[in-house]
Amino acid sequence: MPTTQSSLIKTKKVTQSRISEIDFNNLNFGKVFSDHMFIADYKNGEWVDAEIMPYGQVQMSPATSALHYGQSIFEGMKAYKNDKGEVLLFRPFENYKRINISADRMAMPTIPQAIFMEGLKQLVKLDSQWVPTTEGASLYIRPFLVGTDEYIGVKPSDEYRFYIITAPGGAYYTEPVKVLVETNFIRAVEGGVGFVKASGNYGRSLYPTRLAQQRGYHQIVWTDARNHRYLEESGTMNLMFVIDDVLITPPLGDTILAGITRDSVLTLARDWHMKVQERKISIDEVIDAHNRETLQEAFGTGTAATIAHISLIGFEGKDYQLPPVENRIFSHRVSKELDNIRTGKAEDKHNWMYKI
Ligand SMILES: *Cc1c(COP(=O)(O)O)cnc(C)c1O
Repeated sequence: MPTTQSSLIKTKKVTQSRISEIDFNNLNFGKVFSDHMFIADYKNGEWVDAEIMPYGQVQMSPATSALHYGQSIFEGMKAYKNDKGEVLLFRPFENYKRINISADRMAMPTIPQAIFMEGLKQLVKLDSQWVPTTEGASLYIRPFLVGTDEYIGVKPSDEYRFYIITAPGGAYYTEPVKVLVETNFIRAVEGGVGFVKASGNYGRSLYPTRLAQQRGYHQIVWTDARNHRYLEESGTMNLMFVIDDVLITPPLGDTILAGITRDSVLTLARDWHMKVQERKISIDEVIDAHNRETLQEAFGTGTAATIAHISLIGFEGKDYQLPPVENRIFSHRVSKELDNIRTGKAEDKHNWMYKI
């Protein structure tokens, strides 16, 4: 295999790309991976062996600590192509900052900026042909960090591995989502790790989500652990409502993941002089607004979906049909604007795009 050496990152390229086997008009999310991956190891208190190599199986001891005690955190971001064919990342420094917030909370080492950003840049550059150009499609990028000690005692791992893998994908949700407000199971508690992109947060959510799906909903809306009244998040999305022309979203804290899409949507709303409130919002307030016909919009925000319109909310055995998705002015406008910024069709006033 041809090997090239940069100052920091060794690169071993594939001898034969798999790209011709991929149907870019028919992409499922997260099932097909690009030719290469990035790996860096943390050993003896240092980051070593940063390397790009062919995507493939990795060997692992069955005693690998992350598998047992969950020192496992991740990020998600996307790369897009503009009309000139240049590859752009959306706010990657925010993902870099956030993975280190997660690392701190999970007693894992932080990742140096040079390793995160150079690994990301060189990997996406090498596999830039894998960034799709079809409408709504993008290259999903999954950085993650796991404890790798071969040891089953409970303690922070001494050794870690940081990976980046990438997957071309089409649009995430194709239709508006029906959500069920969950008041029995909880996602996060004050003092816990709800604000961390930790693997364990997702494993625990699958069973309640499956119960909701068996009843015909797509996703759960989590409520607070104390009162089961205040709305928190939905799936891997932050939640937003437009009531009486005011954009309302739950405030950040221990129990809520600080979404980059959330921040971007709030920033654009403020740019447009919309009234924005980051405050607690209860299911009672949402239903009350629905009954008074002042609930105009409800949607989730996240990298995977960008904006997912919520068409129906189930709560305590009743389904509330929300206003028609076609009539939702703000969520359509902000969704379009984010798409346009990402593909270079709208001005990037906040310097969100990072050219590879
Ligand atoms: C990743 C994630 C989000 C969305 O964050 P983005 O940075 O917008 O992708 C929201 N909630 C949870 C629980 C998440 O894991």
